[in-house]
Parts: sequence; structure tokens; C-alpha cells
Amino acid sequence: MAPTAELDTATSPPPPHFVIVPFPAQGHTIPMVDLARLLAERGARASLVVTPVNAARLRGAADHAARAELPLEIVEVPFPPSAADAGLPPGVENIDLITDYADFRPFFDVMRDLAAPLEAYLRALPAPPSCVISDLSNSWTAGVVSRVGLPRLFFHGPSCFYSLCDLNAAAHGLQQQADDDRYVVPGMPVRVEVTKDTQPGFFNTPGWEDLRDAAMEAMRTADGGVVNTFLDLEDEFIACFEAALAKPVWTLGPFCLYNRDADAMASRGNTPDVAQSVVTTWLDAMDTDSVIYVNFGSLARKVPKYLFEVGHGLEDSGKPFVWVVKESEVATPEVQEWLSALEARVAGRGVVVRGWAPQLAILSHRAVGGFVTHCGWNSILESIAHGVPVVTWPHFTDQFLNERLAVNVLGVGVPVGATASVLLFGDEAAMQVGRADVARAVSKLMDGGEEAGERRRKAKEYGEKAHRAMEKGGSSYESLTQLIRSFTLQEPKNSSSITVECSANRHI
Ligand code: UDP
Repeated sequence: MAPTAELDTATSPPPPHFVIVPFPAQGHTIPMVDLARLLAERGARASLVVTPVNAARLRGAADHAARAELPLEIVEVPFPPSAADAGLPPGVENIDLITDYADFRPFFDVMRDLAAPLEAYLRALPAPPSCVISDLSNSWTAGVVSRVGLPRLFFHGPSCFYSLCDLNAAAHGLQQQADDDRYVVPGMPVRVEVTKDTQPGFFNTPGWEDLRDAAMEAMRTADGGVVNTFLDLEDEFIACFEAALAKPVWTLGPFCLYNRDADAMASRGNTPDVAQSVVTTWLDAMDTDSVIYVNFGSLARKVPKYLFEVGHGLEDSGKPFVWVVKESEVATPEVQEWLSALEARVAGRGVVVRGWAPQLAILSHRAVGGFVTHCGWNSILESIAHGVPVVTWPHFTDQFLNERLAVNVLGVGVPVGATASVLLFGDEAAMQVGRADVARAVSKLMDGGEEAGERRRKAKEYGEKAHRAMEKGGSSYESLTQLIRSFTLQEPKNSSSITVECSANRHI
């Protein structure tokens, strides 16, 4: 599809140029690529700055953009040579490629060395770009962009509900609480009580405080923020977040709704390990809203014992399912045999996808009526955008508060009962959810009773609102128009007019 620039190019200044710097993790890159495509579809120029391994993953998105004649380019910068000195194995340029816990912190440190190539790229451009949009986990971009003298917007992946909790907890120094402390997050329009495990904060681990402080500072010094959400979903939290930051927050989502055809959907993230048509053909034979989809995102891994509990729970629920397990989870013959035996037992009712699944194609299929999710914000939003209620099973970081939003505020979720965070690579010791919990939560979500019906009705209503938000005249569409105009005309959105009351007046 040709770009639909809002401005008359014969009489207007050239379209603005946005340089986008994603953090290399699927849950961060996928929405930023969608954002780049949205900007380009609306006539702005978008350049995504990534390293070679990540550029290769984006080939599908780049080809799709080329076919659609979008002004979108992938800018490749080398992964820092300091990676070798830090002990990172060659080719580990994305968080999902890390196989050793010890490599996580060095990975973040090495990412800072992308500052020089980014600066060189920005300075070498024939005309200065209009704005840099960088992931908040790339807080090192703040220094580069200010040295070059450009405006910068942060992109933050989670909901505004989560980000507001984070900002308010940090402002009161609450994230340094002792293990057994509970606290009520101050300054929220609803009452949110958290524990050490469920509290906000991406970098709360001891030894990572510098990253947390740098991210907060990058948020404070940015010219504004971009968030993948929409007004009708969380208007009061968006307003409070914008007021607390005292700078504009552009809510332009759900970005996933950019992907309107199978071609666009298939070019999100990795190349799917199962052909989209194989899953959709299987779903075509199922009743509307009858199938539960199960996927724990791009990072969270389960040890075999835990994986088996999920499988047994799905089997015991008696509901049709599509369950996605990661390559790394099926690495042993023991797991492979177990999965094959399960598939034989549930033949015709359950499908196991091994590897990367075409999540959007699945969630947008009429047969899918529920999603067991780890509560990554993209997954929750993708589900809501397609009117699909959720079983919530948070694992770490923002996921517990995303669960709170889905279950207690929006009323579209059934919690599986996870209350403590688990390790990224699986955590047998912390196994707190069993097959009975999975079966109970799935049955409750899918049982067709009054409560389930009400949950589904709400999800579908949010889904319709999400689609309206992205259509011409909708809140996200018009916000994007404004964002593009602001940077075309060099008139930033005025944040001084924002006045919002934030006081705890509802209990959740
Ligand atoms: N995803 C996908 N196929 C998979 C697993 C994940 O397409 O098999 C996509 C999913 O649609 C979402 C992203 O990967 O856009 C995961 O982001 P999320 O915030 O849900 O979780 P994270 O992976 O960051 O934990």
C-alpha cells in the first residue's frame, strides 16, 4: 500500500524523519517495528537502527515494507567488538539468544558501546533527522541524542498503568524494600498493593540499580514518550502518567493492528516455525471462541517438570487448545517423547506448536476464545485487540501488574494463581502453579457461564474500541497525526495544559 501522507507535499515541508532504536528483545523490537511501519504508512520516514543478527530477523518486515512502498529502512550497525572481551558468545545480539544467566548483565553493558556507531550514523545523515525514538532500556541513547542536538522520545513497552506504578514507586524510593514488605503504590487512581515479587521495576535486582537509575533519567530528560496502548483502555492511567512526567505521552496503539494481512503478520519477529496456514486450517474446523491458545512469550522458559504440568492441565481442562513450546524447552528426548504421547492422547482436540508461532494470526482467528499468557504487555494487548479474554500467569517484571490491569481493572482475565516471580530459564524450586490450577483457570475462562460470558463481552468491547482507536478519527490514529505534524512543523505538543487529579479512590 502506498504511503498516505496527511500533508500536501507540494506545499509542505518534507516529511519528518524518525530514527528508531529498538532494544534487542522480541517484546521490545516487535512493537517498535510495527511503530516504524505505522509512521511510514502515514508518510513519515522511519529508520530502524539494529545490529546484523537482528537486521537478518527483520528481513521479512523490510521486504513487506518494500512491497508496500513504505519509506522504511533498516540501518545496520556492527554489534560492539567489546562483546568478545565481555565473554559474550559470537552472534548473541538479542536477549532471547542468551543461554547463560551470567551473560545478561554484560549484554546490557556491551549495548552501551553502540553509542559511537549511532552517533556516527546520526551525524553522517545529509539532513538531521526530526526525532530519535529509543527504547527506555537503551538509556545510553540519551547522551548521544543530546550531543547531536536532536529531540528524543522514549518508547516504553508496558502499559501506562505499569509505568505509572513504576514512576510513583521510584519517586518514593519504594523499590528498595526488604523481602517481606508489602506496600501500596502511591499516587495511583486505584489502590495497588504489591510485594517484593510483584512490585514495579525492570532492574530491581541488586547490582542493576545503575540501569534502573539511567532508565528513569532517560525518561525524565526525554522530550516525551510513546506507549503502545490506547485511550479507551486506560485513559486515567495515561493521563496520570503524562501528568506525573509533565511531558507528552503519545499513545498510538495497539500497534499490532497495523498488521492487517497474513503477509504482514507473518513478518513479525522470527519466521514462524509452523506455516501460518497449518494452524489456521486446523482452527478453521473448530467452533467460534472454543479454542484456548497458550504461549508464554519470547523469553520465559519452563523446566520439563513445569512443562508437563501445563500439558496435563490443558488435557484435564477438556478444552481444545493450541499450545506453543519453545525449541529450548523441547531439547531433550524425554520432553519430545512426553509431548508426542500427549499429542496422541488429545488428537483432534489439541495441537502443540514447537518453536516460534504466528501469534497474531492465531489470536485473530474467530475460533480462538481464550489465551493463557505470561502477561507480557504485547501479548495482553494483542489479545485484547482481538477481543480474546485471558488466563493470566505472570512470570516476572511488569507481568504481575499487567495481570492486575487485565483482571482487576479491565475485567478480562482469570488469574492462574502465580504470586511469586520465577527465573527466566525456569525455576523448579519456585513451582507454585500446578495442573489443577491450569485446568481450573482454563475451564473458568472457557466454560460459557454467565461470568465467562461477561468477561468475553468486555474483551470483545475493548477489541472493538481498539480497532476504532486505530481507524481514521480514532484516538491513536489522531495522536499519530499530531505526532507527525509536531515534528513536521517543529511545534511540540504542549504538556503544560495537562491537569489531572490522581488520588486513590477505588480498591482493586
Ligand atoms: N510472539 C510470537 N510468537 C511466539 C512468541 C511470541 O509472535 O511464538 C510475539 C508476540 O506476538 C509478542 C511478542 O512476541 O508480540 C512477545 O512480547 P510480550 O511482551 O508478550 O512478551 P516477552 O516476549 O517480551 O516476554
